[in-house]
Amino acid sequence: MAEFSDMKKFVEWLVPDENIKHIEAFVKGFKLSTSSYKRVMHLLNQEMNQGLMRHSQPLADIKMFPTFVRSLPDGSEKGDFLALDLGGTNFRVLLVRLQGHDIDIQSKTYLIPQRIMLGTGTQLFDHIADCIGKFVRDHNLSGQTLPLGFTFSFPCKQEGLAKARLSKWTKGFRCEGVVGEDICQLLQEALKRRTNCSVEIVAIVNDAVGTLMSAAHVDRNCEIGLILGTGCNACYMETLENVQTWDEEKSHPDQVIINTEWGAFGDNGCLDFLRTEYDRELDTFSINPGRQIMEKMIGGMYMGEIVRLVLERLNMEGLLFRSVDNECDLFERGRFYTKYVSEIESDTDDFYHNTKQVLDEIGVENYTTEDCKIVKYVCTLISARAAFLAAAGLATLINRINKTDITIAVDGSLYRFHPRFHNLMCLKIQELVKPGIKFKLALSHDGSGKGAALTAAVSLRLRNTKVIPDTLPAMSELPVRIGIKQKA
Ligand code: ADP
Ligand code: MG
Repeated sequence: MAEFSDMKKFVEWLVPDENIKHIEAFVKGFKLSTSSYKRVMHLLNQEMNQGLMRHSQPLADIKMFPTFVRSLPDGSEKGDFLALDLGGTNFRVLLVRLQGHDIDIQSKTYLIPQRIMLGTGTQLFDHIADCIGKFVRDHNLSGQTLPLGFTFSFPCKQEGLAKARLSKWTKGFRCEGVVGEDICQLLQEALKRRTNCSVEIVAIVNDAVGTLMSAAHVDRNCEIGLILGTGCNACYMETLENVQTWDEEKSHPDQVIINTEWGAFGDNGCLDFLRTEYDRELDTFSINPGRQIMEKMIGGMYMGEIVRLVLERLNMEGLLFRSVDNECDLFERGRFYTKYVSEIESDTDDFYHNTKQVLDEIGVENYTTEDCKIVKYVCTLISARAAFLAAAGLATLINRINKTDITIAVDGSLYRFHPRFHNLMCLKIQELVKPGIKFKLALSHDGSGKGAALTAAVSLRLRNTKVIPDTLPAMSELPVRIGIKQKA
């Protein structure tokens, strides 16, 4: 896959061929100017400030939750940990064996059926507990008390390192009786009900935080974590002075990881100036209309569906697939997967091998080469807009942190597998950050699994040295130096 060395080359490459120009009127809303992205940054910064201030936080869309993570791992973490990763699409149980920088991970993925995603909280946590019970038996771990780190990737108000109340469900989950409850307590009770495993929940983190922790383990410049998976979210290291909502004690080095929950950006209508008719339709038919507006323009749960809505419209206008069957998956909500977008955009020649395979799979027949060209063009526009929006978000954070050298840890299937997401984000960030700032986007390997275990490990190590029990304290208080960077 060719990489673009500058934005100009990408924009030139994107100009549609003469023979597909007639569809332009239906897709031009996805092409946004640099000034639109700058407006996004300005608005995002404003909304983030609202989330950090005590008087405006309760009504702010972007919640900017302070996590209780203030220290990063230093590589001396040791021991066996269980980790859970509940992210939206996958649920995994992991056994993480830490021995300094050597980490051994065994994991198993379990399915969460849709009836459980939309059922009761008790059903959900019973199911999770059953999976843990099975994992512990299969790995011969019964008979020992295992510390557990839980990556729970939904917006939570954190009250301690192992206490987090769900503020709302997102990404296709809507289990009754969980909003406002302490997630760790619900899990602990379910474990007691359903298993005889001895597990102690030590930390609950969001996947963005896990991703940042995991990458910070090997890169000291890492101060931002980004998720591009089912949904989209970011976290970063903020100075305590800017966090009015921090009620705990303030001590040096005065920083805490903020879980932005920026997926909700735009819920008050401030992004309406750039949303397309397709974004509105997707939102209307989602299980949470009016919510998670930014996430719905970026996340893997939605991108394929936006593409499908455009293709459907082009077909209705008589501009695409002239002889398609009404029964075909193209007309079914949710049947055009985001992985198709990656596959289609991976076609590099005029044979359109992957594109044809996808069209065959969804039951489109008698397509022409021109149809393939249009499908690929539509995918390219929609994924580029997603990459650029995520880049505008990152540029806002990078400018806020204002250091000369910064690493952003990224995780999630969309980032991992899309052929051009990384390249396009880099080009756009370069265009939007203050001059002189150097940045790097680094894939965080298994951020959610490793990150939760590392957070638990740091916490246990600190507990054993008898410092404040329920938070990861600032480094200056610690008897042992742990790896955290002072603000310049
Ligand atoms: P989670 O968000 O649960 O942690 P992932 O990071 O695996 O899980 O992200 C899942 C999302 O990634 C799904 O919405 C899916 O549509 C999308 N996805 C899966 N495979 C690909 C791919 N090859 N290219 C782009 N997106 C993908
Ligand atoms: Mg994940």
